[in-house]
Amino acid sequence: MPQPATHEFEVEMRVPALPGHETAELVFPTWAPGSYLVRDFVRHVIGLTVSDARGRTLARERLDKQRWRIQTAGRPFVVRYRVFAFEASVRTSFLDDSHGYWNGTSVFFHVAGELARPCRVTVVPPPRAGWRVATALAPVARARNSYAAADFDELVDAPFEIGRHETRAFKVGRTKFELALYGRCNADTGRLVDILRRIVTATGRMFGGFPFDRYLFIVHALPIGSGGLEHRASVTMDIAGLSFEDDAGYRRFADLAAHEFFHAWNVKRIQDAALARVDYTRENYTRLLWLFEGFTDYLAHIIMLRAGVTRERDLYRMLAEDWPKYATRPGRNETPLDELSYEAWIKQYKPSENFINRSVSYYERGFWAGMALDIQMRLATAGRRGLPEMFRRLWERFGRRGRPVDEADVRDAAAAIGGRRFDRFFDRAIRGTDELDLPALWRRAGLEVKARPEWDQRGKPPAERDDVRARRARAWTGIDLHPERMLVRNVVPDSPAWRAGITFGDDIVAVDGARVNPATFARRVGDNKPGTRVAIAYFRRDLLREATLTLAESPARTWTVTADAHAKAGAAAVRAGWLGMARR
Ligand SMILES: [Zn+2]
Repeated sequence: MPQPATHEFEVEMRVPALPGHETAELVFPTWAPGSYLVRDFVRHVIGLTVSDARGRTLARERLDKQRWRIQTAGRPFVVRYRVFAFEASVRTSFLDDSHGYWNGTSVFFHVAGELARPCRVTVVPPPRAGWRVATALAPVARARNSYAAADFDELVDAPFEIGRHETRAFKVGRTKFELALYGRCNADTGRLVDILRRIVTATGRMFGGFPFDRYLFIVHALPIGSGGLEHRASVTMDIAGLSFEDDAGYRRFADLAAHEFFHAWNVKRIQDAALARVDYTRENYTRLLWLFEGFTDYLAHIIMLRAGVTRERDLYRMLAEDWPKYATRPGRNETPLDELSYEAWIKQYKPSENFINRSVSYYERGFWAGMALDIQMRLATAGRRGLPEMFRRLWERFGRRGRPVDEADVRDAAAAIGGRRFDRFFDRAIRGTDELDLPALWRRAGLEVKARPEWDQRGKPPAERDDVRARRARAWTGIDLHPERMLVRNVVPDSPAWRAGITFGDDIVAVDGARVNPATFARRVGDNKPGTRVAIAYFRRDLLREATLTLAESPARTWTVTADAHAKAGAAAVRAGWLGMARR
């Protein structure tokens, strides 16, 4: 990286002699394991040259967008190229005068058929920049900034952070943990380290130890947080750097860290056959992303509780806020979870306008399915065993032994832990599209659950009542507007607006002849009672149109979830086991 301002990594790849091979095929990865989308990283490769050890250019033929055949005569050769690194995300690479970062699949070629060869990478930071290197790869003794990987999989599974990041380290037992924190961040770093220490301790306890000697958290503090990407002995997390004014910022950090760290087992070691042997050149289809992502998302919340990073009331508040978002999502029961997983490559990261109406993320439905299975297992075992124990079994029987899992193995593990089979659940919630009824399960697990319409003021103290606001919340069009513009983002199927023909991208200008803006639209609609006909004027492709629709009653509900003080002893035991309170 001699010129960071160009955002170009200069890469030199030296390949040893491959006796008996007249040609070698250079291959560039097209996706980053952990992020299920064809990204064509090769589009950022420029200035490719291939020469022999004496500098003579070798003949080459481009076979497709990401493969070249080189005439090597079996002798060593050198590949030189530059990579334009200007996408600041966990799965790509980035270089400027403040730091360099790469996720290996966006920077490294491999030679076809030679993935199992050991690799060694030497980093040359910009001169006199004072940059340091952080990576999970083992340093090579007596070689400056050189690191060794057992094979190409390990090489690209260890992202590199190079710069003047802040570093912290701590130990849990004999295992060493490091934090490399880049960017402008208003968090108390000591508190971030405390959160990480608590989370890794609670997770290690769940699995009975750590499957590595050393683990690295690379954290990028950026203007907007965009999530993480998991690896076997490290993780990259992109967080909103200036979001730590209050506890919510720390909770979001803990949630992301708990999710990513759980992946060190679930998906990086507990894997199905499709992900255990990666093909870097094409889609790798798996039907288990509900397990790898949805269940991970769910268990992050259980781990945060056990780690003492959150409290029960935080979980109850999350249930009350997130459940209605899911439960009113029109597409939540359209496609089975295993199919959503298979289709990740074409839908999850390429959502079309009707995604919310006709589909759902395997993270979201998988989260609630994981919670449903955990509670059912707790109900079957008087609260004693559930999803954490199921994952420990999957780790011990499959992950630790390098054996891939499939859905049947997960079903068997659930049965072994829960003491009965849960095939009905798997058939309906994973392979089927049945409604997930979490509130019913929460009640059986000792929670008190209430849902009431926003306009219902009964039982509220007079000081909290707002009759005008409540009345206005009653009428409903089914239109979801862009937050800052009058563009229709979605229309709920079978809602009044849907029946009146309003659709994505319509540009609303007036309700009953009165001009509206994002702040006044809901008020003008809410001035009317359900059953009233209103005229909505809008532009579609610059032509003015008008639709008349009959307002319905809003399906929105405000939920409250609390521990049921009058729960029977059995239900209270299920709750205590479920939330891990018995174990702290
Ligand atoms: Zn994940």
